[in-house]
Amino acid sequence: MKLGYEMVIGLETHVELHTRSKIFCSCLNAFGAEPNTYVCPVCMGLPGALPVFNEQVLRYAAMAGMALNCHVHHRSRFDRKNYFYPDLPKAYQISQFYRPLCENGFLIVQTSGGEKRIGITRIHMEEDAGKLLHDEKNGTALDMNRCGVPLIEIVSEPDIRSAEEAVCYLRKLRAILTYTGVSDCKMNEGSLRCDVNLSIHKPGEPFGTRTEMKNLNSFQSVEKAIEAEFERQVAAVEAGETVVQETRRFDQKSGKTTSMRRKENSADYRYFPDPDLPEIYLTDEDMTALREKIPPLPDERRERYMKEYSVSAYAAELLTAERWLADYFERGAAKAESPVALANLILGEVFAQLTARDTQHTGERDESSLPISPEHLAKLSDLMNSGKVNSSTGKKILGALFQEDCDPERYAQEHELFTVSDDRVLNAAVEKVLAANPDMVVSYKAGKLTVEKALMGKAMAETKGKADPERLRRLLLDSIARL
Ligand SMILES: [Zn+2]
Repeated sequence: MKLGYEMVIGLETHVELHTRSKIFCSCLNAFGAEPNTYVCPVCMGLPGALPVFNEQVLRYAAMAGMALNCHVHHRSRFDRKNYFYPDLPKAYQISQFYRPLCENGFLIVQTSGGEKRIGITRIHMEEDAGKLLHDEKNGTALDMNRCGVPLIEIVSEPDIRSAEEAVCYLRKLRAILTYTGVSDCKMNEGSLRCDVNLSIHKPGEPFGTRTEMKNLNSFQSVEKAIEAEFERQVAAVEAGETVVQETRRFDQKSGKTTSMRRKENSADYRYFPDPDLPEIYLTDEDMTALREKIPPLPDERRERYMKEYSVSAYAAELLTAERWLADYFERGAAKAESPVALANLILGEVFAQLTARDTQHTGERDESSLPISPEHLAKLSDLMNSGKVNSSTGKKILGALFQEDCDPERYAQEHELFTVSDDRVLNAAVEKVLAANPDMVVSYKAGKLTVEKALMGKAMAETKGKADPERLRRLLLDSIARL
């Protein structure tokens, strides 16, 4: 809220489906290939080429709808959306307008303000367009590998009231879709992209005119774009200007939104049923079979982790935010003596080391980002939890496992890293440090208690960092007291 204004947000999210081939031809659906290598007359839109619908797209789209609590229609149909698309040469996009596959769904998000239900108006299937590559030297080139990649567009109700809620919605959407297995939802590869529709009003008054910001491709840019556009609209209305319906671009560098073009209305697209494609029909049997394929979703797993493994609600929410991570945790927890300690190790030191290793700062992770087997990580967690290796040695072993995955117990043995708790060894280290630093002992005795930390550091170094820290501290303080 600012000056009594509230923001009203609806999100349109495009998600590329993870099928083997494209939606209307047999070209491969793959990311990152040489430009224009996965193309054919159909996806290039050459005259006379006829589309043939890939039924896997229908299965995935229906599963996405079911996982998002939608009503999935038995009958739906494709329409042509006519437009001048420089990146889609046939000048129309095959989409669904009059008869979308799914309607009336919702998802539940956890925000700092509590639980919130956000409605989903509809989910429809459509084809993706190509990619324009702008180059100062050579001008603009067109890569058509993405033409005909299957998409679902998920349209939310205007239920969102803050940038935080928008990001929570997208995170939850991504979690549900990746669990369902219909998409990898990698924002940095464009397989999840988001358009933000935003207007402002004072509570109790009708909604204002909305603007649209297109193709935001990170959670951070969604958040920043929303905040910037809200500020702009409030300032405009306060200055007596009117907000016009238009598409705006969010510039990462300046953090501002600028006008791109006046927004079209749906009538401008002259939608009509695509005569090349028959009506789509899902039988009751199809529906049942698809529903059975949907695995337990994040909320269900979160509840189970809290019950079965006694992890906190917060930790359970983080562990279930991505399916690969939840799967990983479960495999480890089955072996670990303390699943709670394993959860803390993953969310603490493992994530810290992952972030440090993420040189491109994409923040996108999958199972390949964590090259340590869950069984080995569980063993390391047990070694640390039982005190057999102390926490700083544990971190070092973790770093070594990132380099080369191996049995942490054997690694600790080979490198002599087990915690030293033999009093004779520890006392020898303490005596040596005290003898070498008489002035520090004097200042400690004179009341400068912070010296303890320095002495502990020296004694710890004497054991090559392997001492049981609690035991070492006790012996150190006892020795000083006797002096
Ligand atoms: Zn093709």
